[in-house]
Amino acid sequence: MQIQHHKLTDAPFKESPNQGGPITVDTIIIHYTGGASAESSIETLTNSEAKVSAHVMVSAEGDITQMVPFNAKAWHAGKSHYGDRTGMNQYSIGIELDNPGVLKKSGQNYVSWFGRKYPEEEVIEAVHRNEDFTRFWHIFPEEQINAAYSLCELLIKNYDIKYLLGHEEVSPGRKTDPGPAFPLDKFRDKLLLEDRSSDEPDTLPGEAEVAVPRLNFRNAPGTHGQKITQPLKKGTLLKIIRKEGDWYQVEAPVKGWVMSKYVKTDDS
Ligand SMILES: [Zn+2]
Repeated sequence: MQIQHHKLTDAPFKESPNQGGPITVDTIIIHYTGGASAESSIETLTNSEAKVSAHVMVSAEGDITQMVPFNAKAWHAGKSHYGDRTGMNQYSIGIELDNPGVLKKSGQNYVSWFGRKYPEEEVIEAVHRNEDFTRFWHIFPEEQINAAYSLCELLIKNYDIKYLLGHEEVSPGRKTDPGPAFPLDKFRDKLLLEDRSSDEPDTLPGEAEVAVPRLNFRNAPGTHGQKITQPLKKGTLLKIIRKEGDWYQVEAPVKGWVMSKYVKTDDS
C-alpha cells in the first residue's frame, strides 16, 4: 500500500460528501465507530445528511476503505481541543475502527447499545483513561489492530505526524473512543517514540503467566497504583514490556503493572 495524491493506492475509495477544505496535517486521531458493522458505518459517514465523516474506516477483519483524501478536512472530531488548539479536524487525519464500544453485561452475555450479544472472550473489563470505574469493552481483533498500525506507519512516512491521539483525548468527557481495549499508548510508543536506528537489548523475559490465583493489576508500579481491572486470574498470559524494581509493566491486553514475583516466566 502507498499513498498517491493523498489517496491509498490499494484500498477502495468511497468518497464522502462530508468534507471541507485543505488541512495542515500533524495529527492522527483514532476512533471507534460504536456501530453495528463497517458497512453500516461507512453508509453513515458518506451520507450528506449525517454531516460526519472520517478519512478511513478499518473493518474488524482489517479491510480499509478511504472516504476523504488525506489533505482535505473530514468531520470526525467535532468539538475538540489539544494543547492550545481547538477544532482538531483542521489538523488531523481521522481513522475509524469498526467496534461496538461499551457493552453491558446481561446474564452470560455482553450487549451493545444496539442490542447485539457478544461472548465473554470478545470482551475486556477495564477502566477508561478518563474514568475511575471498570466497564466492559469489545476487543479489537488482531487483524484490525495490525491494519490500523500499518496505516499509521504509512501516514507517518507520508505526512509530518507529531501526535497520535484518541478521540477521548481531544474531546474528553464527551467521547470515550477508542477506549481502553485499544492499545493507544503502545501505538504512540512504537510509532512515534521508538528509535529505529538501534536494536533494543532484549533483557526482558517477554512473556509470562500469572502464577497466583488472583493478581492485582495496577496503573503504576507500586502498591499505591490504582487497580485498573479485576485481579488477573492464574494462568493469564502477559506480555512484559518493562521492568521497574519489583514490578513488570505488562499487556493483558490493556497496559498495567504487576508484581514480578507473582508471575512465572521462562527464566523463572
Ligand atoms: Zn470518535
